[in-house]
Amino acid sequence: MKQQKTMIFFGAHPDDETFGMGSTLAQYVNAGVRVYYVCATRGEAGTVEPEFMQGFSSIADLRTNEMKCAAQILGLAGVVYLGYRDSGMSGSPDNKNPESLAMAQVDEVAALMVRIIRELKPDVVITHDAGGGYGHPDHIAVHNATLKAFYAAGDSQQYPTAGEAFQPSKLYFGVRPHGFMKIMVKIMPLFGLNPHQFGRNKDIDLTRMINVNYPVNAEIRLKKQSIEIRDKAAACHASQGGGRFRPGPFILLRIVENMRGQRDYFTRDYPPPANKRREKDLFEGVK
Ligand SMILES: [Zn+2]
Repeated sequence: MKQQKTMIFFGAHPDDETFGMGSTLAQYVNAGVRVYYVCATRGEAGTVEPEFMQGFSSIADLRTNEMKCAAQILGLAGVVYLGYRDSGMSGSPDNKNPESLAMAQVDEVAALMVRIIRELKPDVVITHDAGGGYGHPDHIAVHNATLKAFYAAGDSQQYPTAGEAFQPSKLYFGVRPHGFMKIMVKIMPLFGLNPHQFGRNKDIDLTRMINVNYPVNAEIRLKKQSIEIRDKAAACHASQGGGRFRPGPFILLRIVENMRGQRDYFTRDYPPPANKRREKDLFEGVK
């Protein structure tokens, strides 16, 4: 009997699984893959309007609940929390909280991840890119720890108390293509938006993102159904702006994307790419 294929996405916050590559995750769930989300924090440092707090004792509580809703819609096989505290944007006091992910040793985070990899035995592992997408310290910390865990999980000499060695087949980073970000930064001022001060907390400098150009080694063409599932899951993350009407430039981009067909893009770290060909399936070559 053929074993069911398994994928783990290691991310930083409740919502990264949806806002980042939710369509791809939903698409693989529908293809019969067991998809897990390993989430480092409960998004404690997110900005939440008081109206969303009704019935919840803390932001962590609220966002865990939102995550549960999104996981159900995406069809995830499970969500595992690593138990760190959201570090907030770089420079914020949350960075220095002793329970924050930013204060944790990469080795300690990787040890937790190795245990999970050895237990769930994923064929494919995905995480944030090296720059953390938009520079969030938690995204960068998750990237670094995942890298360490991926290459250690198959070596029984490393983390010997974290279970029996298991080596996943492939490691990817979710990336946004350079061209896409360049267009965004160009058209935002036309809508009266400042690309240096983007996002709910106006602390995301999109121009930083166009300074790095990650190679695209895999391009997943998204089915309409996968995008619809992602959009529904996004609405679960209501306190983080999911499901709300997006400002101008997003609508323009959405139109452009819809014309050429929406895709998610990935850099492959392992096995190292031998040429510039783009894979169409993250499980390509997986037995
Ligand atoms: Zn995040």
